[in-house]
Amino acid sequence: MIPTKGYAAKQAKGALEPFSFERKAPGPKEVLIEIAYCGVCHSDLHKVNNDWGGSAYPLVPGHEIVGIVNKVGKDVKRFKPGDNAGVGCFIDSCRNCEACKDHEEQYCASATWTYGAKLADGLRTYGGYSERIVVNEDFVLTIAKDANLASTAPLLCAGITTYSPLKHWNVGKGQNVGIVGLGGLGHMGLKLAKSFGAKVVAFTHSPKKKEDALRLGADEVIVTSDVASMEKHKGSFDFILDTVSAPHDLNQMLGMLRRNGHYVIVGVPSDPHAVHAFSLIEGRHSLSGSLIGGIKQTQEMLDYCAKKGIVSDVEVIPMQDINKAYERMLKGDVRYRFVIDMKSLK
Ligand code: NAP
Ligand code: ZN
Repeated sequence: MIPTKGYAAKQAKGALEPFSFERKAPGPKEVLIEIAYCGVCHSDLHKVNNDWGGSAYPLVPGHEIVGIVNKVGKDVKRFKPGDNAGVGCFIDSCRNCEACKDHEEQYCASATWTYGAKLADGLRTYGGYSERIVVNEDFVLTIAKDANLASTAPLLCAGITTYSPLKHWNVGKGQNVGIVGLGGLGHMGLKLAKSFGAKVVAFTHSPKKKEDALRLGADEVIVTSDVASMEKHKGSFDFILDTVSAPHDLNQMLGMLRRNGHYVIVGVPSDPHAVHAFSLIEGRHSLSGSLIGGIKQTQEMLDYCAKKGIVSDVEVIPMQDINKAYERMLKGDVRYRFVIDMKSLK
């Protein structure tokens, strides 16, 4: 067993505080990664606050993990000590179901989430707000040697969660694409959709983000409270990706789609959306959702981003500032992903 320092919430809505626990030594197929950086996803905050129900405490969040391989089991083929490595939202799956065979382990009913999952031996998984993690090599991602680790970390969730639906719905040249919400996921969605050749419009409820959105590559920015601007663009979008973490009016947003347009939700507010049938039947609109992405596609996304020079815009913080960072994230005051420097735990 390896003593490990981390930060945990001890109860729903509780502040994160120092927490010591033990990681198992790596088994034959496992990789021990010393965590360098971990991104702060809004899902971490939802889980700490038990917004979706089912959170278990102590909860060590964190699923945007990058670090350096420290030790490998004897049967590990793809990694050696000193390599960069990444871990995303899940660390295992059943490997036999239809989803697993299709390389979409995120849809496996028994996928093991990186944190908060109950293991067969009764222990719980603890996430990336910690010094190190031990993961089966099949669920560890390769990170380029020369990568900027801090700005690559958010790709492990925010990157793949936006890349996957953009690929699934073949977003690209000639399409008018909307990205709703300019946070961690949204700013990655914007960069990726733009890199695929689409015309990209950012929808934000924060007028102060207008200039940033243009700098990040948006062709246009629409502030959702600007009625005239919303009216002008009504019925013109082929595809809209909604990354918003809080309740908002989906009927208004569905009205932005053109005939046969797709509206895909990745953001998960705690309360259910109210969708009027007219928002769908008028224009034969489709409403769908998408959950992160499989390991194979996550590697494809990491390689694509490395080739294109796409990374996240990050604000690096020490672990000790995590509670302040959560407060700021709730206010939309993050440009555009907090990333924890794990050196601060030493
Ligand atoms: P984030 O950085 O906090 O961004 C969320 C954005 O939503 C904000 O920047 C803001 O953008 C917008 N927003 C916030 N409150 C709003 C309100 N009241 N009305 C309208 N817009 C509002 O969060 P994130 O890390 O990107 O995560 C976004 C959501 O995706 C979370 O619910 C998270 O749990 C979920 N998620 C889902 C998956 C998946 O697999 N589907 C994976 C990861 C995360 P503007 O200021 O530009 O309006
Ligand atoms: Zn996440």
